[in-house]
Amino acid sequence: AEEVGGGDKEVVKDYFNKSGFERWKKIYGETDDVNRVQRDIRLGHSKTVENVMKMLTDEGKLEGVTVCDAGCGTGCLAIPLAKEGAIVTAADISAAMVAEAEKQAREQLQLSNRGFSGGPVMPKFEVKDLESLDGKYDTVVCLDVLIHYPQSKADAMIAHLASLAENRLLISFAPKTLYYDLLKRIGELFPGPSKATRAYLHAEADVERALKKVGWRIRKRGLTTTQFYFSRLVEAVPAK
Ligand code: SAM
Repeated sequence: AEEVGGGDKEVVKDYFNKSGFERWKKIYGETDDVNRVQRDIRLGHSKTVENVMKMLTDEGKLEGVTVCDAGCGTGCLAIPLAKEGAIVTAADISAAMVAEAEKQAREQLQLSNRGFSGGPVMPKFEVKDLESLDGKYDTVVCLDVLIHYPQSKADAMIAHLASLAENRLLISFAPKTLYYDLLKRIGELFPGPSKATRAYLHAEADVERALKKVGWRIRKRGLTTTQFYFSRLVEAVPAK
């Protein structure tokens, strides 16, 4: 019963091109027209982005490092990565999200496309699902996208992302331990018709097992929780 109509992917794509785009553009943006819950999610998500930037830069400078941002949304991560000098490929299944990311990047990376002498390089933005991503990147990052994948599709998604990464893979996801608590909170706050697509939570052990299956191990872990936002972050590296 996980698939409805064209399947989860089509539903997700449609959502993030329409109502989901409006909702998440606001949450990921900086305008004041957000409610208390959206403001809280904005804060939580920005902490996840900060954690990722810290995990990445702790291992060394990002200048010239190739990074794939899979499911880039409005560019919340792609832009700070580019500011640090990373060579970013950012892709998302939603054309609306990618267009917004591109617009944000143009506004925020004024010295784009210099490509050398230390200036940020404009990320390469693409409208494609992450299953269609190919090539090799030093680092692959996939933030808060696994929530759209049922467990039956999660292993293949993680394996594919790992196949694109040479040195490290960072994935964040909503941890399953808070499942009932989260559902309860959401249920209490949003009575009536569902405001979003179906959300899938994932046990950390399942993610770790999926990584292990393709020869990767978790090196670092982080957790961001605010009142309405929960995200587990893992950094994986080839097990060797
Ligand atoms: N990673 C971004 C961030 O953290 O700012 C956006 C997170 S948002 C909750 C989830 C994003 O994943 C949406 O932009 C959505 O369009 C994208 N997405 C969902 N399923 C996808 C898929 N199969 N392939 C590529 N992108 C996908």
